[in-house]
Amino acid sequence: MLTDEPLLFDAPLSHSEIVQFLKEDDLAALAKLYTTADDVRFLCVGDDIHVRALINFSNHCRRNCLYCGLRQGNAELTRFRMNENEIISAAIKAYKKGYRTVVLQSGEDELYTEKVICRIIIGIKQSCDIAITLSLGERPYKTLKAWFNEGADRYLLKHETSDPELYEQLHPDLRFDHRIDMLRNLKEIGYQTGSGIMVGIPGQTYESVANDILLFKELDIDMIGCGPYIYNPKTPLQAATPDENLYIQPKPEYVYKVVALSRIVTRDTHIPATTALSALNPELGILSALSAGANVIMINETPEQYRRLYEIYPKDETPADILSPENPFETIEQLTGRHVARDYGHRHL
Ligand code: SF4
Repeated sequence: MLTDEPLLFDAPLSHSEIVQFLKEDDLAALAKLYTTADDVRFLCVGDDIHVRALINFSNHCRRNCLYCGLRQGNAELTRFRMNENEIISAAIKAYKKGYRTVVLQSGEDELYTEKVICRIIIGIKQSCDIAITLSLGERPYKTLKAWFNEGADRYLLKHETSDPELYEQLHPDLRFDHRIDMLRNLKEIGYQTGSGIMVGIPGQTYESVANDILLFKELDIDMIGCGPYIYNPKTPLQAATPDENLYIQPKPEYVYKVVALSRIVTRDTHIPATTALSALNPELGILSALSAGANVIMINETPEQYRRLYEIYPKDETPADILSPENPFETIEQLTGRHVARDYGHRHL
């Protein structure tokens, strides 16, 4: 059990202290950890919850990440692509529902070229006053800059694990150092930059998760997504999964610990209660993360006919069970007692 001394806000946590908290299973100590993270969240980013509309517009991908259902080698997945008008219309629809950020996400699908994405950004920005977050995988510096210059505000690119060897095992056609360079490039271009990890992926250790959290700080990452690894039987990682009958590997508590420690270490970042958490714990996953340092919710606003085809893992992770898709803002306010921001929700630097 950890010490009864109150946690200090001002002393940075060391690697060994983070590891100690990750291993902690005393409920009173964990309650104190979550309360501290919640206090840090309140002091550093306030009480507002920021809500983002997620539009998954293509499930084609040229990569073969071992854990991902969208991997090119998965022949069992029905593939789809939304056209430019459909994507722009979905963003406008989200704006009319009250969202002020839309997250455009796809696999690494090169059919959406630099010019196509530029046209989509221009089309959305000319139609509504909404921040755009892109999550389109690894792209050349010139392309990322062109999208930023057309008005894209943020870019998500998870580093998934800070262990270079594990990273390259999980991503046979990607390189760890290139990933980190890309995160630095995104910051240099001016994007609010998001990264994140999969908590509980086979091969991960407490020590590597502590390194992940410290890397968020070192790279000055603006948005941190820490969701649970969820086993997908249509991927090669199946063989490495301890219990093939279990779709969800990490215990919810472990994810909350990572969220809380990320908040305490990075202070003023945006941290989503990830949609994958609701697959882990449909009723309380998102709410528990919001009480442990998270301040963002992403709601799947992909058009209904495509939504179930975006299968990174086999469960529908949309938190629609607890969040009314028609009135997400009011529902979140009722459930949490916290105000939902109606602005862009940028990180204030
Ligand atoms: S994790 Fe991303 S890049 Fe890798 S296969 Fe899935 S969609 Fe493609």
